[in-house]
Amino acid sequence: MKRTIETNRAEAWLERGLRWTFALGLVLGVAAQATDTQAQEKALNLYSARHYQTDEALYSNFTKQTGIKINRIELGDEQLLQRLKSEGANSPADVVLLVDAARLWRAQIDGLFQPIQSKLLEERIPANLRSNDGTWFGFSTRARVIVYNKATVKPEDVDTYEELADPKNKGKVCTRSGSHPYMLSLIGAMVERLGEAKTEEWARGMVANMARPPRGGDTDQIRAVASGECGVALTNTYYWVRLVRSEDPKDKDVVAKVGFVWPNQATSGTHVNISGGGVARHAPNRDNAIRFLEYLASPEAQAYFANGNNEWPVAKGAELNNPALAALGSFKQENVPLSSIGKGQIAAQRILDRVGYR
Ligand code: FE
Repeated sequence: MKRTIETNRAEAWLERGLRWTFALGLVLGVAAQATDTQAQEKALNLYSARHYQTDEALYSNFTKQTGIKINRIELGDEQLLQRLKSEGANSPADVVLLVDAARLWRAQIDGLFQPIQSKLLEERIPANLRSNDGTWFGFSTRARVIVYNKATVKPEDVDTYEELADPKNKGKVCTRSGSHPYMLSLIGAMVERLGEAKTEEWARGMVANMARPPRGGDTDQIRAVASGECGVALTNTYYWVRLVRSEDPKDKDVVAKVGFVWPNQATSGTHVNISGGGVARHAPNRDNAIRFLEYLASPEAQAYFANGNNEWPVAKGAELNNPALAALGSFKQENVPLSSIGKGQIAAQRILDRVGYR
């Protein structure tokens, strides 16, 4: 009997002990989970191929507004897409920002985005600047224009993309690599407009007219036009406006020697492209990702994202707050859907390989 009482007592202690341990475990577990959820609520992993210093304010302003910390990974377009692919389902990426429709389209068909529904984005971003399946959204536009050396080239000889390939411009043309997204999109749009055969003829003419083999970025082309090494070159508008706004005497000298034309104003219009992004396929912080994209469509963020890098803001309600960019004036835009530019770049790359446009 005594033994039974003792056993019972011991059992009661044990039971109480277990109950406490269980309760304590539960409390700790819940606490751990809460910290976990909180951590999830307050972080955003951003994979960005944008390479513009002015984006800093864009990110810090988001954190200030929402308390969500941004962990940023910045890589070149191609490396970024490679990394996302190799990380697969384990990728920590929440938002992917890319420059150029060619890359956005590539990421879309490679399944690196997940479709989202956002009334706000659908309302603020024009339909022609986003994918039709909710995978990516454009947040700014840029145009691909022609710059020429004022001393050696007449603007009327270089005011269409097609003319750059004309024998009259032999030895004068400079571009960056043909395989760069900016060139692939331009040529992809051309395939849409003119067909593959005519575009190939054009690409052959371009190679025949080159002042030097393709190298460097867009700014390098503008500088080479100023120095006289090249007579004419292609550049995205924001590189030109950056030089126009520069206080550096060397840049001022470059701008003084270089002329600017909107290509194809009498015909198909100037090629326009976008910078944009979407929610990553396996985003661990999906809600924060959508919140960030919606933030990018706010007038405030548009000022950083677009104006800050001398691009045109696209969201409803956003203002162009950039006198140097505004001074370029308005122009006729090429009317080729961004989605077909994406598709066209595959044909474009084939053409470049055939004609030896490096
Ligand atoms: Fe760029």
